Amino acid sequence: MTFPSEKENVTRALAERGVTLPCPRCGDNGWSVLEAYISNSLTQNTSKVIVGGSVLPTVAVICTKCGFLSEHVATVLELSVYIGNRLRAARNWSDNDATFLRNCR
Ligand SMILES: [Zn+2]
Repeated sequence: MTFPSEKENVTRALAERGVTLPCPRCGDNGWSVLEAYISNSLTQNTSKVIVGGSVLPTVAVICTKCGFLSEHVATVLELSVYIGNRLRAARNWSDNDATFLRNCR
């Protein structure tokens, strides 16, 4: 699934989980869903940069008043991106990564 069609799923998933509190920085309640996934690179060694390695996909909502960015792990929201990344995980992730992924669900 790609954005912007995924935007509705993100909004619905957040609402279903009661993610309705105002911005923790400015108290405003105006949010916008970022129309892209954020791929957070995973590493267990901070001295290495791994290009094309394992990623943790997240979606983000941004406060429309102050710009505070809040990320939500796509696997926890059960978004369709999880399916594609789970396949990738089977090929690339270590046992520790897989354990982390299971704990995120
Ligand atoms: Zn704010």
